[in-house]
Amino acid sequence: MTDRVWFGFENSYARMPERMYARVSPVGVARPDLIRVNAGLAEELGLDAAALGTGVGVAVLAGNAVAEGSEPVAMAYAGHQFGHFVPQLGDGRACLLGEVVGRDGKRRDIQLKGSGRTPFSRGGDGRAAVGPVVREYVVSEAMAALGVPTTRALAAVTTGELVYREGALPGAVLTRVAASHLRVGTFQYFAARGDVEALRLLVGYALERHYPEVEVRTAGSLLAGVIGRQARLVAQWMGLGFVHGVMNTDNMTISGETIDYGPCAFLEAYEPGKVFSSIDAGGRYAYGNQANAALWNLARLAEALLPVMAEELGGPDAALAEARARLAEFEPEFHRARLAGLRAKLGLATEQEGDAELAEDWLERMARGGVDFTLGFRRLADAAEGNSAGVRGLFSDGALWDGWAERWRDRLGVEGRLSGERAAGMRRVSPAYIPRNHRVEAAIQAGMRGDFGVFEELLEVVTHPWEERAGWEAYMEPARAEERVERTFCGT
Ligand code: AMP
Ligand code: MG
Repeated sequence: MTDRVWFGFENSYARMPERMYARVSPVGVARPDLIRVNAGLAEELGLDAAALGTGVGVAVLAGNAVAEGSEPVAMAYAGHQFGHFVPQLGDGRACLLGEVVGRDGKRRDIQLKGSGRTPFSRGGDGRAAVGPVVREYVVSEAMAALGVPTTRALAAVTTGELVYREGALPGAVLTRVAASHLRVGTFQYFAARGDVEALRLLVGYALERHYPEVEVRTAGSLLAGVIGRQARLVAQWMGLGFVHGVMNTDNMTISGETIDYGPCAFLEAYEPGKVFSSIDAGGRYAYGNQANAALWNLARLAEALLPVMAEELGGPDAALAEARARLAEFEPEFHRARLAGLRAKLGLATEQEGDAELAEDWLERMARGGVDFTLGFRRLADAAEGNSAGVRGLFSDGALWDGWAERWRDRLGVEGRLSGERAAGMRRVSPAYIPRNHRVEAAIQAGMRGDFGVFEELLEVVTHPWEERAGWEAYMEPARAEERVERTFCGT
């Protein structure tokens, strides 16, 4: 019988100046019960998954006990929410337990989400409900399996307590793992207070943690690094039909990982203007607007860094010029990554003039033909092997396919690859299984009744997204009309 659980916590953020966080203790819950430990991730982190699942482990995961070496803090941050600046947000329902250096030598934050009130809670209860915890667990783990930089889910527990939203809901706590929880909003918090010293320290901390390869260790380098990673990240999201839904600056990381799986969703029928979030009335974070939203956020990061850049470059004019030059790199990088992703999905191994137009034409026809984004690309791989009935059948009007297929085949003919090899390559970038919204919803509904079997099965499928398996056919299918999820909620 284990009487303790060993994390080997380090607390580098708690060594930063006290004004960057509040020291807190997770607030214990009535009857903690394990939903799941992510054994694979525990292994990568060098943690004992079995121990995490014992009574002592669960007590730590629920916030009822603080593990040895942990110095819990709630991080301070600000943020632009839907364009409006809020000078103080911070971890209102999360607490950073500490950092763990994994088997790969990388340092990661271990954070409890839903662990009770903190000095940043404002009006909130500091808690999370089972639904959003299930959503974040499933979708973040699916994203990881899809090769997208993302925060991870190490564990989830129920609390045996109710949280009150529209009604009473069962409570839960998620253990989130992140390269760090530094956000654009972390920098904005100190910029808004004119605290240049804190900004300077954060720049150094972020460079060391996330950009160790960068030689010129300046705020401008950090900005350039974040711009590059975010440009590539958004391109990756879009290649998978992912809609983040709440790209506020407090939900954009400095590490380049996807964070905050609130009202996120995956496209079914391809529709560039698609919005799922119930609170995104203006379509600010629509599927096709995500690159613009990211660039807008990065401009806010640049603004926050200007005072440090001005010190480094000898004045505000030089800083502004540098910020502008860095920001100008976003669009070319995004388009490069987006086109490279689309080429791979279309089975193109070389770069030819006209590829962007060919890809655009395909997307436009998918939109007009009401084609399911994920299935459309997946069935295109079959077409690369000569079986185009499947993909053609996805279009409301087969002529939309016929008109494009000829162009595509001509373009493929330029390359001497074997069709089987090409199709296999396409299946390595266009998944069979994504966490379809109605499936996530079903896992949430069952979870709220205390049945986590649906969640377990869905998780098994979406963490093996590439190879089609017998028995999993239904998971590839889009929602039927009556199953369709059109609106998602942050559920905070
Ligand atoms: P989010 O919508 O999850 O990005 O959160 C935005 C801000 O609201 C962050 O400062 C959160 O910590 C805070 N917040 C969200 N939900 C709660 C809650 N239930 N209690 C306290 N603070 C919360
Ligand atoms: Mg957030």
